[in-house]
Amino acid sequence: MTTELLFRDDAYLRTATARVLAVHQRGIELDRTIFYPLGGGQMGDTGVLLRASGDRILIADTRKGEALESVVHVPAADMPQPEVGETLTLEVDWERRYALMRLHTALHVMSCVVVAPVTGGNISPDKARLDFDIDMSLLDADRIERETNALIARGAETETVWITDEELDLRPELVKTMSVQPPRGAGRVRLLKIPGIDLQPCGGTHVKNIAEIGGIRVLKIRSEGKRNKRVEIALAG
Ligand SMILES: [Zn+2]
Repeated sequence: MTTELLFRDDAYLRTATARVLAVHQRGIELDRTIFYPLGGGQMGDTGVLLRASGDRILIADTRKGEALESVVHVPAADMPQPEVGETLTLEVDWERRYALMRLHTALHVMSCVVVAPVTGGNISPDKARLDFDIDMSLLDADRIERETNALIARGAETETVWITDEELDLRPELVKTMSVQPPRGAGRVRLLKIPGIDLQPCGGTHVKNIAEIGGIRVLKIRSEGKRNKRVEIALAG
């Protein structure tokens, strides 16, 4: 079963209606959703599915389903179960999601400041990190913070660009992240473009203008192994 991914075209949707396609052990599948499923290092969304009866089904997590482009909404314990075919109102926990969007986009900006292969990454609502294959001596927290914040202050509109699998194969330099290859098989790959700053495959949710990030601070830099030097950041305010 596939789910129309409304967040992919508009990451700012806080509410929508959708029809229940399936209810199973893992959770609830809908015909469309504004909930981002865990992926690309970004945590899955939380929120509420509201029934016409007024019942509130709290969603504790969102995960990818078995089919390509299917999404499973994972309810918290002891929630009412919706019926297949029922129409629900979706409300994403916006404060949490917007923090994820700002931090996620901040990592794209930081990957322009720290120029090295990315070996891992993670985005949670309160902090985010990238791991780089780089010498520790080249990572200076003050410089990373200053240069990333200078780019953020300048501002730039983010854009979504689609290319075919074949076009991506011809441009391997676009893939900065060694540990996560972009999903193939759908025939096309989604790129995030920040003109003059970054261009790379990404299926996550981003802010419209990097100025919305406001600013970042570097929480810590540490070695997580020979090829993993971790830079962890938080939003400045
Ligand atoms: Zn991204």
